[in-house]
Amino acid sequence: MTGIVEEFLALKEESDADVLAMQVGDFYEFFADDARLVADELDLKVSEKSSHGSSYPMAGVPLTELTPYLKSLVERGYTVAVAEQRGDDDTTREVTRTATPGTLLEATGADARYLVAVVRDGDTYGLAAVDVTTGTFRLTEVEDERRALAELGRFSPEEVLPGPTLRGDDDFCEAVREDTDATLSVHGTEAFAPGKATHEVRERFGEGALRAVGVESEGPGARAAGAALDYVAETGVGVLSSLTRLQPYRADDHVALDPTTRRNLELTATMRGEREGSLAATLDHTVTAMGARRLEAWLVRPLQRRAELERRHDCVAALADNALERDAVRETLDGAADLERLAARCTSGSADPSALKRVVDTLARLPDLRERVTSSPSLADSPLGDVLDRVDAEAAADLRETVDDALADEPGGETGIFARGYDDELDELAAEHDDLVAWFDTLAERVKAESDLSRVTVDRNKTDGYYLQVGHSQTDRVPESYREVKTLKNSKRYRTEELDAKERALFRVEEERAARERELFDELRAEVASHASLLQDAGRALAELDALACFAEHASANRWTRPELRDDRTLDVTAGRHPVVEQTVEFVPNDARFGEGRRFLVVTGPNMSGKSTYMRQTALIVLLAQAGSFVPADSAAVGLVDGVYTRVGALDELAQGRSTFMVEMQELSNILHSATEDSLVVLDEVGRGTASDDGISIAWAATEYLHNEVRAKTLFATHYHELTELAARLEGVQNVHVTAEERDGDVTFLRTVADGPADRSYGIHVADLAGVPDPVVSRSRDVLERLRADEAVDVRGGSGGGSEGSEQVVFDLGSGELRATGDGGGDDGEAGGNGGRERGGGSEAGDGSDALDPEAEAVLDELRGTDVNNSSPLDLLQRVNEWQKRLD
Ligand code: ADP
Ligand code: MG
Repeated sequence: MTGIVEEFLALKEESDADVLAMQVGDFYEFFADDARLVADELDLKVSEKSSHGSSYPMAGVPLTELTPYLKSLVERGYTVAVAEQRGDDDTTREVTRTATPGTLLEATGADARYLVAVVRDGDTYGLAAVDVTTGTFRLTEVEDERRALAELGRFSPEEVLPGPTLRGDDDFCEAVREDTDATLSVHGTEAFAPGKATHEVRERFGEGALRAVGVESEGPGARAAGAALDYVAETGVGVLSSLTRLQPYRADDHVALDPTTRRNLELTATMRGEREGSLAATLDHTVTAMGARRLEAWLVRPLQRRAELERRHDCVAALADNALERDAVRETLDGAADLERLAARCTSGSADPSALKRVVDTLARLPDLRERVTSSPSLADSPLGDVLDRVDAEAAADLRETVDDALADEPGGETGIFARGYDDELDELAAEHDDLVAWFDTLAERVKAESDLSRVTVDRNKTDGYYLQVGHSQTDRVPESYREVKTLKNSKRYRTEELDAKERALFRVEEERAARERELFDELRAEVASHASLLQDAGRALAELDALACFAEHASANRWTRPELRDDRTLDVTAGRHPVVEQTVEFVPNDARFGEGRRFLVVTGPNMSGKSTYMRQTALIVLLAQAGSFVPADSAAVGLVDGVYTRVGALDELAQGRSTFMVEMQELSNILHSATEDSLVVLDEVGRGTASDDGISIAWAATEYLHNEVRAKTLFATHYHELTELAARLEGVQNVHVTAEERDGDVTFLRTVADGPADRSYGIHVADLAGVPDPVVSRSRDVLERLRADEAVDVRGGSGGGSEGSEQVVFDLGSGELRATGDGGGDDGEAGGNGGRERGGGSEAGDGSDALDPEAEAVLDELRGTDVNNSSPLDLLQRVNEWQKRLD
């Protein structure tokens, strides 16, 4: 025992894994700390094994049952090394495989599972993303960390391998942890080294591969790819040869979408992190796992290339318009096997006979699909056929025939894996087997005929093998040659020499047959594996048809329309809806129009009126159009955007414990840096996470900057009414508001978006509705009226307290400040109020009696001298903060 535990601990040390499963005979055992961990995580029973005075916790699972445990551990983020017995006498053990989150071949479920290696070289980042379960290998290079993180996040990786220079970069690693659920793993520095890494890539994909994909052969992309390959090889998962193709892409082929935006728009998960209620879940009518993966990939990677989008829209249009044909296509796809995954399983040697049967069954659908797509004139005119053209139909038919001819109808059943006639040797063994079985089947008849035993049966069990069983009434008649093996209550069991011999022969034949089957099956599986890229092509074609049919299905069920794509900066949506919200409520459609003099819309309206929904639906319509889908609108002209950026104010997010004002400002800063004239920006209550005066300042400055410098199409919902004044001052800014109606003190949300700023007094109606006492409600109406008129408001003392009654206060609407104007200072107050309204107009309010101290004067001078247009919001925030301190 001690020896085994020592061996376990030594192997564990060597392996670097979190947990080791070590084969001991028919079990995989976990010892010591690993046993406790496994017991805690997986409910396995721990026993104490003691030997030589020490005792060790130990837990085990049968050899054949490791997979589910392995899967659960890895899905919980652990890496698990597996040590197997090797050598003739099974005495040496070695780690044959390390299962890690990013290389878990056993993964079930439709989701892609990416391992992403990231290398930084100067400002360039190389990203290599591998999904071993599907053989997908993607490669890209991007400039700057922000884009690298955005790109990384899109893969939703399970595991990230930071290159040597990034490992010590806490900011980077922290950001990865924040944006993804990935495990960060360390892989040897040499694997990332230029010479070695790129050698790996050339070995696998051929000499010209890197050149062909346009990355520099020693650059960060190539190094990331090499390191990823090396890591996959080292884990021993055995799928390298299913990585048949390097699929490079340029990050700017896709619409920029940072992690925050993906989360805000709830593309694949809701803000709460659930799939249910996300855009992907709402849209998903796919009938295959491959199709579901493709749909998701399209949604998180909308395209900028118009030709490809028009092609998808053409396909969706054809399928949307022809319900019968669409149903036929979807029925043909329904139940198709996950060919990408099966290709990987064949390569790794883990595919079983039924998996090959499913490959056959799925390949057989290709000609059916072609028939469906070409026989109907309405589909034949669309580019749907091109999707299937990407599969070598002849090679697919050949492979299908090969495998189909080889396999029995129900492989693995009574008749074995292979069809009769496939292999002479196997047929001979099968015939021999059948003869022997027949000999045993007819033995009882023969005995009855040849002897005077009538109560005799032939049977077999595990301990005794075959035997003749004779009832006690006849045991005195059994021939001499019978050898008694067991006595039961009513009968005795016998064997004969002939039976011994036949049984030996049968066991030998069974063994030989199984060995031959294994041999042939390994060959057949290897043959299929050698066609991995064909299976992947076929899988991708089926995935694409499935995803297109899914778009069509949703479009037709929900009256979505084809967007008109434009190369200019148009965005013109008529009667748009929110794709997810429209599923659950009676939705009021709204237009969204951008154009000349309308590139920045300030959206106002009472709480809960629908501002956030309106802005999100507009962003989603653009994204859907650029994912290749139809859109929830009566019509939509969409100028292709290069990025969608959203930010929700910290206050809204704070409620969910997600964000701080600092994060809000960092993200605002990202947007101001990244967005371009071709982007769509959605800001929801930005600036609300701080005191209202500096909140307004930031919102104001950000608006000016977005309008003047960035010039992106922008939707900005705000409760800072002051911002509505910008419409009069900046040529591209327009006000829109979500309407609500007040009747008899009731607020009804109409949810229609109209031009112009919102009325401001809904807050009071809401207070009224909420049951705030009448005197308070009527008093607040009164205060509001005075404030609007810039009139001084008297401060009413409480009935019980001493009454100073006469003090007056002016509320400066511009800054949100209250100023006492007690002892006859009424005139000053008025001047102050007006001064505050004129931003940047230089308030000269500080006259005689209210002379400012020199420090305040200095602050004012700095404030006047601040060039808002050329300052970052963060910068401004810091300055405001500093001014406040000085004024205190
Ligand atoms: P706001 O951002 O103005 O506070 P929201 O956009 O969060 O308001 O909308 C509040 C609620 O109103 C949403 O949960 C949604 O159910 C409903 N809603 C919003 N817009 C519409 C609409 N156009 N038609 C129907 N219901 C809507
Ligand atoms: Mg809102």
